[in-house]
Amino acid sequence: MATLKKEDPQVAKLIELETERQKTMLEMIPSENHTSPAVREALGSIMTDKYAEGYPGKRYYAGLEYYDKLETLCIERAKKLFKVPHANVQPYSGSPANMAVYMATCNPGETVTGMALPMGGHLTHGWKVNFSAKFFNSVQYGVDEKTNLIDYEAVRKIVEAAKPKLMWVGATAYPRIFDWAKFREIADSVGAYLAADIAHIAGLVVAGVHPSPVPYVHIVSTTTHKTLRGPRGGMIMVTDEGLKKDPELAKKIDKAVFPGLQGGPHMNRVAALAVCLKEASTPAFKKYGKQVVKNAKALAEELKKLGFKLITGGTENHLLLLDLRNKNISGSDAHIRLEKAGIIINKNSIPFDPNPPFKPSGIRMGTPAITTQGMKEKEMKIIAGFINEVISDEKSVFKIGQKVKTLCRKFPLP
Ligand SMILES: *Cc1c(COP(=O)(O)O)cnc(C)c1O
Repeated sequence: MATLKKEDPQVAKLIELETERQKTMLEMIPSENHTSPAVREALGSIMTDKYAEGYPGKRYYAGLEYYDKLETLCIERAKKLFKVPHANVQPYSGSPANMAVYMATCNPGETVTGMALPMGGHLTHGWKVNFSAKFFNSVQYGVDEKTNLIDYEAVRKIVEAAKPKLMWVGATAYPRIFDWAKFREIADSVGAYLAADIAHIAGLVVAGVHPSPVPYVHIVSTTTHKTLRGPRGGMIMVTDEGLKKDPELAKKIDKAVFPGLQGGPHMNRVAALAVCLKEASTPAFKKYGKQVVKNAKALAEELKKLGFKLITGGTENHLLLLDLRNKNISGSDAHIRLEKAGIIINKNSIPFDPNPPFKPSGIRMGTPAITTQGMKEKEMKIIAGFINEVISDEKSVFKIGQKVKTLCRKFPLP
């Protein structure tokens, strides 16, 4: 950052401070990760300079020879990695990607269905404050009150009554595997488009530790910065099943992204995504994805031994949702206290939470970022101990903070 330090020391200083913070704290928000230096170099490149409205070979501006080659390379890598016939790599992020899916498949006012936010679903799957519920008739499903698992029969009943045009599967706080085949059966019973939003689990799908939705769903949307470990951004894929249902679907998605919703794509991000997709196609990434899940399971087991209550009793993916009501601390207070000790997690509602969203009963945590740093099961045991001490005894915050620093120094950022 030699130039930046000279030209703008204020910004350089903040980046330095944030770098130091990331080096010394445990990043355990399940939607976050640490990118590679190669991804960041591409993201910080000159590819940010030009407009590239349109698609490779069909642009509106001149001078795009290399941008065309780059976007084509990125698309081909996405198609190969996820085994899909069509990919659009232009969405600015996960939410705009989902907007494009709505725009490609529904008219305003039509019925759509997805998992409710307090049950683990995402805002863009039809939550009331979001465009997805304001512009469409949103009917939501949830999880079973006893098991907190998706009750596929309950979903079937809701869908059969609502007859949605578009149905979402995917979540931000669901620690279990999705049964894509069952959702497809339900979607087919009413002729709905089925979209899998794998924002959280894309990296796990690539690593083979979560079943791929590709053989079952029509559309796959994802972010590229969570377990996939790329730059912030979004991506939409159309499957063979999607093209069978609607031969125009790939064209409709492309048209919805541009000119439907967006102008010029952020091509520096597309460059960084291409790098990310190359990295994700290596055996090392498969090993990484497997370790993410092994670590989450190890952390879950250790926390259970320490008396913590886990929603659904454990995890099968990268994240854990804890119900803290038996620990006499709110999710918000735990969030603040853990942050003081350098353990970064987030407060989170639990299904059927008796407490309000700004003071929920739970916390959510995950292993993608600390696994990128090379931590394994042994460190998960240590971290579970840290979390337990901080939650049981407020006075331990400083002492644990020092131990967190020592641990982090042993596992440098990429
Ligand atoms: C994170 C996430 C998104 C949205 O991504 P942004 O990049 O924050 O807009 C969409 N869907 C799911 C399931 C997510 O977890």
